[in-house]
Amino acid sequence: MHYFSTNRTSPHVSFRDAVLTGQPADRGLYFPSEIPTHSVAFLGHLAGKSKEDIAFETIRPFVAGDIDDRSLFEICSETVDFDFPLIGVTESIWALELFHGPTLAFKDVGARFMSRCLGYFSRGRNEKTVVIVATSGDTGGAVAAGFHGVENVEVVILYPRGKVSKIQELQLTTLGGNVTTLELQGDFDDCQALAKTALADVDLNSRVHLTSANSINVARWLPQQFYYFYALQQWEGSPPVFSVPSGNFGNIASGILAHTTGLPASKFIAACNANDVVPRFLRTEHYEPRDSIATLSNAMDVGNPSNFVRILEILGSDFVDLKEKLEAVSVSDETTAETMRHVYEQYDYILDPHGAVGFRALADHLREHPDQRGIFLETAHPVKFDSVVEILGTQGSVPGGIAELYKKEKISIEIPNDYSRLKEFLFSKI
Ligand SMILES: *Cc1c(COP(=O)(O)O)cnc(C)c1O
Repeated sequence: MHYFSTNRTSPHVSFRDAVLTGQPADRGLYFPSEIPTHSVAFLGHLAGKSKEDIAFETIRPFVAGDIDDRSLFEICSETVDFDFPLIGVTESIWALELFHGPTLAFKDVGARFMSRCLGYFSRGRNEKTVVIVATSGDTGGAVAAGFHGVENVEVVILYPRGKVSKIQELQLTTLGGNVTTLELQGDFDDCQALAKTALADVDLNSRVHLTSANSINVARWLPQQFYYFYALQQWEGSPPVFSVPSGNFGNIASGILAHTTGLPASKFIAACNANDVVPRFLRTEHYEPRDSIATLSNAMDVGNPSNFVRILEILGSDFVDLKEKLEAVSVSDETTAETMRHVYEQYDYILDPHGAVGFRALADHLREHPDQRGIFLETAHPVKFDSVVEILGTQGSVPGGIAELYKKEKISIEIPNDYSRLKEFLFSKI
């Protein structure tokens, strides 16, 4: 197993090098040369397995021996050290709650796995690795928490000023230590473009050992497959429809990858907000990136989703095949808020705005296909979003640690949307 670039120009690399460099020089994304298939012994007996075992078996073929089994098992155990409950909301809709980790959103899994891989690969190297990450809200906090205190690693977070929620901002600006946060005058796509420019800058990379902690990094992207196996572990009956709140399309791409390795699923729905590049693509066959639009589900405000090319790699670019497996819909803010109210009143379940987009897309699909049942991914805890209280008048129970967060001091550096300023700053980190 090796990793090739989706742009096909850069050389193939090992898992280790894919993690350490983040992105190939040709600005494609790394993609595994083979998609393994899991044995019936594994897939048929998920219910009897531990979370650690499932994580280990799922990821092991992709790591391809670059981390010894014992260390990999330990990394997996530390990564999935919290719950992933599947909760029935209606008769046909279940929520896979992915917000029980330290920063209350699903990105904890990828960030924890990647930080530990990087720690493993950096052991014994004297060089510092600088990890750069662009965030639309939740990635930054997860990466900050996952990498905080990891030896030989400096983390630089870029976030769009005024476009993340209060708790998200506190999670990504209050750790200090080896984590520095840059507040950009721009939107998420600007942050992502600057990070990608840095990763592709030959001059910079000859002097700074730079990698990405966005889902373009395979160590962030691949472990997201775990969720889908945990969902199946708790599921009874025919294969579910998975509805995945999508922005940069990393999470849903990992679900479709898991499906290709053998995970039963009847369909994947990419549930998008007003940022509808992929829904439009599936309607028109034209892929047209646009500037991102600010919505209630801010972590999905992405106008040019990076990981969509990985879905094309997995499913092939045959349009008919693609539509067989993948549906994509856009849900407006108005409908998102209405869904939150309805689900709270009818089922006493508090959705966050991202989960609400997923719920709604699934409910609409099931209305057309009443014989099916499905799971939506509840990707963040409602307490993370100020809008939940505004819409519902309550945010439900507040997890421990949130009160502490409000006592901490925000530390960030404001920068303009100007690559030369970022570059200067990155040089100062070595
Ligand atoms: C990041 C994020 C998403 C979108 O996930 P992608 O992998 O970027 O598609 C959805 N919901 C929440 C809460 C997120 O933080």
